[in-house]
Amino acid sequence: MDRLSTSSECPDKVYDLAIIGAGPAGSLAAALAARAGLSVIMFEQKKHPRTKICGGFISSRAISLLPHDLELLSLQSQPVYQISVIKNRTPHTYNSKTRLGLVLKRDKLDQLLAEYAVRTGVKLKENETVESVQTVKPDGNNKDLYLFKTTKNEDVNIFASYLIIADGANSNNADQVGLSGKHRFCGWGLSKIINLKSPVAETGILKFYPLPFLGGMGWSFSGSDWANHGVGGLAGRKYLARAYNKLFPSEAKGNREQGKLNSWPLPFLGPLKKNANYNSIAIGDAAGLVEPFSGEGLYNSFKSAHLAISAILKSMAEIDSQVTAAEIYNPLFRKYFYFAFIKTLPGAALLHARSILASSTLPSQIAALMNNSLWFNQALDLSAIGTDRLLVKDIGD
Ligand SMILES: Cc1cc2nc3c(=O)[nH]c(=O)nc-3n(C[C@H](O)[C@H](O)[C@H](O)COP(=O)(O)OP(=O)(O)OC[C@H]3O[C@@H](n4cnc5c(N)ncnc54)[C@H](O)[C@@H]3O)c2cc1C
Repeated sequence: MDRLSTSSECPDKVYDLAIIGAGPAGSLAAALAARAGLSVIMFEQKKHPRTKICGGFISSRAISLLPHDLELLSLQSQPVYQISVIKNRTPHTYNSKTRLGLVLKRDKLDQLLAEYAVRTGVKLKENETVESVQTVKPDGNNKDLYLFKTTKNEDVNIFASYLIIADGANSNNADQVGLSGKHRFCGWGLSKIINLKSPVAETGILKFYPLPFLGGMGWSFSGSDWANHGVGGLAGRKYLARAYNKLFPSEAKGNREQGKLNSWPLPFLGPLKKNANYNSIAIGDAAGLVEPFSGEGLYNSFKSAHLAISAILKSMAEIDSQVTAAEIYNPLFRKYFYFAFIKTLPGAALLHARSILASSTLPSQIAALMNNSLWFNQALDLSAIGTDRLLVKDIGD
């Protein structure tokens, strides 16, 4: 951790909480904190709506962790009730009685969440990249604070008592405050949005295509007049790109107006790493919390946002005894991520084996995974960590 030993900085503005990255993890954490009465500043290097490479599926378990007054259904989306696994051109289908989630465009979801955070009182600074973070002890302060250097704040010192790092899979801020930082071993996902000339006949179905190597899966998720095609897994990007071209051969012929096939890391080993130190906590992809089998990241992003805010609020309440956020977060993290992950790894390996050897049984298993009802799933009990009230409290605007 980079620490200034003297204290010449003038605290121009001290926020209770600063958040780096206004993706889904950062925006939810920001909104929960603001609703609890904290002053919150959030830095985002881009401007919403910004592109994020993603399959665009948000599961019902992820939705259940979002504020109830977030107008998710104001976005164009397709409810999902069916999962199809297609192996050797044969589809194996599972129909669910309950909604499994929504297919939508990620840039719109992320914009909605960031705007929601602003409505709760968060100061959002877009087009502003955090370049470095230091811990400092300004005069008259008995606690270390975080001080930010951004692309825009040359003349103003911005300080915060607590820090959440939510700057995604390529996080370059985590290691500056003593967290694990870069995810050197991870999966990769490649995807592309295909704009269709006519509306899709079959919407609301998640179609999966198991790939013939460990940890690989292709997908096609349909919106109303667009589809999200992609592949993900543990193999290298070149191999995955070849698998994509084989699965979607008409696109391989180079239909340029359909955009580029882009790749992004799928970090999943975060539960084994250090994700909290002093009063800083990494969440979402920055913490490496993608679900190892499916590559689903939104659920664990939201789960970690709840745990982080719960820890920060408890640390603030214990201000006299100076209990740090990390001291409260680490046991929660061990319970909800580390121990869960130890069970999830063999569970994910079994699901991969099933996808190759017994594909017909896979759709119902994927649905069970998304419903948190597989033997290795561990749902987050919001009332036990105390953030449930932040989802429903009237913010009066
Ligand atoms: C191909 C692919 C498909 C996927 N499909 C799904 C899916 O269908 N469903 C699902 O649940 N998950 C899916 N995931 C995973 C999901 O996209 C991630 O888990 C999720 O985006 C994590 O959210 P986050 O807020 O942690 O990070 P991000 O969404 O990456 O947000 C991080 C934010 O931080 C900003 N930032 C970065 N550095 C700085 C800085 N220095 N200063 C200021 N701002 C900064 C970035 O601009 C960005 O806005 C997929 C991933 C991939 C790669």
